[in-house]
Amino acid sequence: MRYERPQTMKEATGLLAREKGRAFVLAGGTDLLVRLRTGFIEPDLIVDIKRITATRSIDVRSNGFRIGAAVTGAELNEHAKLTKAWPGVVEAANLIGSKQVQGRCTMTGNLCNASPAADSVPALMAAAAKVVIVGPKGKRTIPVEQVPVAPGKTSLKKGEIIESILLPKRPPRSGDAYLRFIPRTEMDIAVVGAAVSVTLDAKGMCTDARVALGAVAPTVVLVPEAAKALIGTKMDKAALDALAAACSAACRPIDDKRGTSEFRIKVAGVLARRAAQIARKRAGGK
Ligand SMILES: Cc1cc2nc3c(=O)[nH]c(=O)nc-3n(C[C@H](O)[C@H](O)[C@H](O)COP(=O)(O)OP(=O)(O)OC[C@H]3O[C@@H](n4cnc5c(N)ncnc54)[C@H](O)[C@@H]3O)c2cc1C
Repeated sequence: MRYERPQTMKEATGLLAREKGRAFVLAGGTDLLVRLRTGFIEPDLIVDIKRITATRSIDVRSNGFRIGAAVTGAELNEHAKLTKAWPGVVEAANLIGSKQVQGRCTMTGNLCNASPAADSVPALMAAAAKVVIVGPKGKRTIPVEQVPVAPGKTSLKKGEIIESILLPKRPPRSGDAYLRFIPRTEMDIAVVGAAVSVTLDAKGMCTDARVALGAVAPTVVLVPEAAKALIGTKMDKAALDALAAACSAACRPIDDKRGTSEFRIKVAGVLARRAAQIARKRAGGK
C-alpha cells in the first residue's frame, strides 16, 4: 500500500486517476482508518489531502462560505461568523464522535462515506450546500444531495476529489437546526436525524424552507413536501403538523436492532417539528 501526501489538487487527482488498484482519499481518516484496520478495505493507494492549501481554510465570501474539504469539526466550531450564520450545520458537524474525533473528522468525509445516518449531511442539504469537485477533466459544482447515491456509494468518478463545500449567503431572518435521536447521550449513530432551514419575512411568515432527513432511507433525503408545508405559513401548529406528516410519509427505513421502521417513521416527524421550531426561533420568529 502506498501513502501519498500531495501539495496540490492537480497532483492528488493525477495520483488517483493513474492508480490501477483501489485508491482512497484520506481527510480525517475517522472512517477510512477504521475500515482499513477492520479489514473492510485493502487500499493500494491512499492520498492524504491535508497538505493541500485549498482544503484547509474557511473563507467568507460575498456569496457565502467556502469550507475546505479537510477543515475539521473543531475548526468549524471555532469560526464565529460561520457558527452565527449556519448554527444548524455546525451543531450537526459537532455531533460527530468525541473531542478526539472532532479534531480530525471533516464534513466532506462524512458526506463521501455516504452513510444514510451521517450527521452533517441532512444539515448541509437543508442549507442548500454545494460541493466543488476537482478531477482529471477539471472542476464541477453540484448540490450536496447529488453526492450520495446508495449506502457507502457516491456519484464521484475515478480521480475526483471534493475540494470544498459552499454554503450560500443567508438572507436576513434565517435560521437552521439539526436534531438526531440516539439511544445514548453521545457517541452513537443516528437512529433518525432531521434538519430544517427557514427564512421568515418581517411579519414572521416563512418565505423559504428546506427539510432533510437522515437514517430513514438508503441515503439522506430532502423532503420538498415538508418544506412546502412551512412556506407561506407562520409555522403555526397546523403547518408543523403538516411538516411532521410529510416527513413521516417520506421515510423508507429499515428495521434493525437500533430502531424499528415504525419507530423511525414516527420519530422523523417529531424531530422535524422540533428542529423547525428551533430554526424559526433562530430566525427571530416569536
Ligand atoms: C468513534 C467514532 C465516532 C463517530 N461518530 C459519528 C457520529 O456521531 N456521526 C457521524 O455521522 N459519524 C460518526 N463517525 C464517523 C466519522 O467520524 C465521520 O463520518 C467523519 O465525518 C468522517 O470524516 P473524515 O474526514 O474522518 O473522513 P475519512 O475517514 O478521511 O474519509 C471517509 C470517506 O470519504 C472519502 N473522502 C474523504 N474526503 C474526501 C474528499 N475530499 N473527496 C472525495 N472523497 C473523500 C474517503 O476516501 C473515505 O471513503 C464516527 C467515527 C468514529 C471513529
